[in-house]
Amino acid sequence: MKKIAFYGKGGIGKSTTQQNTAAAMAHFHGQQVFIHGCDPKADSTRMILGGMNQKTIMDTLRDEGAEMVTADKVISKGFGNIRCCESGGPEPGVGCAGRGVITAIDLMETHGAYTEDLNYVFYDVLGDVVCGGFAMPIRDGKAQEVYIICSGEMMAVYAANNICKGLVKYARQSGVRLGGLVCNSRKVDKEWEFIEEFAAAIGTQMIHFVPRDNIVQKAEFNKKTVIEYDAESNQAKEYSELARKIIENQMFVIPQPLSMDQLEAMVVKYGIAD
Ligand code: ADP
Ligand code: MG
Repeated sequence: MKKIAFYGKGGIGKSTTQQNTAAAMAHFHGQQVFIHGCDPKADSTRMILGGMNQKTIMDTLRDEGAEMVTADKVISKGFGNIRCCESGGPEPGVGCAGRGVITAIDLMETHGAYTEDLNYVFYDVLGDVVCGGFAMPIRDGKAQEVYIICSGEMMAVYAANNICKGLVKYARQSGVRLGGLVCNSRKVDKEWEFIEEFAAAIGTQMIHFVPRDNIVQKAEFNKKTVIEYDAESNQAKEYSELARKIIENQMFVIPQPLSMDQLEAMVVKYGIAD
């Protein structure tokens, strides 16, 4: 069983890419997948479950107590037999959401939710926060592989570089490694070249370039992944490719994040500084 975490700037497409990749792994590559949503928004599994809002682990814990947080109570099965749970968050304005992520993962481990038959567990985290509880999946060996979702937009690359700084901190103690960057295209000029050069500079690879395609929104509107909505579509094939590359990936590194000067020089080179 491999445990994977997806990081990246808020809104970059982590939850979308993750659900589509998970669906592709199950549908095209016969993998058994579990998605553990770690975002207090609890939107990591919606398209796998056909829009169903499942009760979060933290809500169950608050309403019914720790002994009621059993696997069959907080895990739902969706498309491709993908098992899904959501950590949820604290009551708004009260408590620490990061703490909730830790509690939720610990509870799932205690209840043996990550069963032996699984090929992959995906952790879908919140934004680019790599401190405290949100770093949990990459601390203590909870996740072994990290993929960073980015695009050719400057802020997405800054965030990716920062996430790498966070990764470096935990890599030696936990064994977590970077498996690559996923470019989720925003149709920025020279995006492919920029992300390839940035990836090489920090010692990793651009594992896949996911095109921007309206079918993602159409599928989302129908509460489905693209794979369930139209498995024959080009975009479904792209997610299948990404899934295959993750399955076959052999390149796992401790990245070497760039200094601000190096990063700015690269941004200027690609003409997106202004
Ligand atoms: P995150 O989880 O990183 O905050 P989301 O996965 O919620 O981001 O993505 C934000 C929005 O971007 C989604 O609602 C989705 O419609 C859109 N999106 C993501 N990837 C693509 C893509 N490849 N093509 C078109 N739209 C996309
Ligand atoms: Mg998300």
